Amino acid sequence: MQLPGFQHLQPGSLSEALELLAEHGEEARIIAGGTELLVSMKQGLLAPAYVIDLKAIPELDFIDDDDGGLRIGALTRLVTIVNSRLICERSPVLAQASSMVAAPPLQNMGTLGGNLCLNTRCFYFNQSRSWRQTRGSCYKTGGDTCHVVKGGNRCFATYQGDVAPALMALDAKVRIASKGSERTVPLADLYTGKGKRPLALEPGEVLVEVQVPPSPSKTGGDYQKLRYRGSMDFPLVGVAAVVSRDDSGVCTGGKVVLTAVSRGPLEVGEAGQMLEGREVTDQVAAQVADAAFEAARPVDNVGSDASYRRKMVRVLTQRAILNAWGRE
Ligand SMILES: Cc1cc2nc3c(=O)[nH]c(=O)nc-3n(C[C@H](O)[C@H](O)[C@H](O)COP(=O)(O)OP(=O)(O)OC[C@H]3O[C@@H](n4cnc5c(N)ncnc54)[C@H](O)[C@@H]3O)c2cc1C
Repeated sequence: MQLPGFQHLQPGSLSEALELLAEHGEEARIIAGGTELLVSMKQGLLAPAYVIDLKAIPELDFIDDDDGGLRIGALTRLVTIVNSRLICERSPVLAQASSMVAAPPLQNMGTLGGNLCLNTRCFYFNQSRSWRQTRGSCYKTGGDTCHVVKGGNRCFATYQGDVAPALMALDAKVRIASKGSERTVPLADLYTGKGKRPLALEPGEVLVEVQVPPSPSKTGGDYQKLRYRGSMDFPLVGVAAVVSRDDSGVCTGGKVVLTAVSRGPLEVGEAGQMLEGREVTDQVAAQVADAAFEAARPVDNVGSDASYRRKMVRVLTQRAILNAWGRE
């Protein structure tokens, strides 16, 4: 598999990058660490004429205190997040989830922005061009069929990022910029829930920073991940849980967010209500795990059996909630 030809552009500032993106529109793609983009280009899934490299923009690489919360630049490498004392103190679940992305060499290259902007994945999509040609096009590659869900009327490619669920459980927001404009939205709104076009980003837009609000003082988090090889792989299921409690040991709020079981990160909507006002026992965690099981709808497209992955949602959710509760 060879890289297609492209022009490599390396702006030195965010405003220069936004100019270039505005100028080249749909013909341009952003590269940060390149650990996903270059693989996709080699597989013939993307062939941008211009690759706009963010690596020489220091203003996108920072971790700052923000009145008890955090601001993290999109170009911050995952290894920096894993080793950041500030993040480990304020939002340890973010460092934990980052430490479980791929393997250390990829954490050394991969960035927070690149991780949050991952494409959805599918066994019939993430293959070489010649492999795909033997099967014919699917929705994700411009056709009108799905090879996974027979008779399916849309793309079921799965979102498998590890970091978004942890950040969503922490109520994070993202700042997005384009030439002449800027918006800040909840991280959850970055995801469309559509397999074919998973990100609510327009051409010309760059994810600039992630903002994590301060957590209540007694808050714990945990991220659980099922994967084939503990040393390397994308999640087959991932569960992030964040819970807070008051001084009397009663839960004051909680969030549970799943990954790899849908077309975007999936918040278990009922979790907060089920946890709030209660002491988090095995039984309470099991009830939330049942709700997570009901919400998850994995399909057989990223390895392992979908019904097994769905059962593991229940196991990992219960484990994540109890670990988070024990960590406040
Ligand atoms: C073998 C292997 C295993 C992997 N395992 C995992 C895993 O377990 N968990 C996991 O989460 N990921 C995994 N990955 C994917 C990837 O390595 C990481 O998610 C990494 O963090 C991506 O960051 P990057 O900077 O390298 O992204 P890039 O490849 O540079 O970019 C990824 C995408 O995001 C876009 N992009 C990048 N930065 C921005 C920005 N600031 N604004 C807007 N768009 C942007 C790019 O255009 C591209 O579409 C794996 C990859 C490989 C090759």
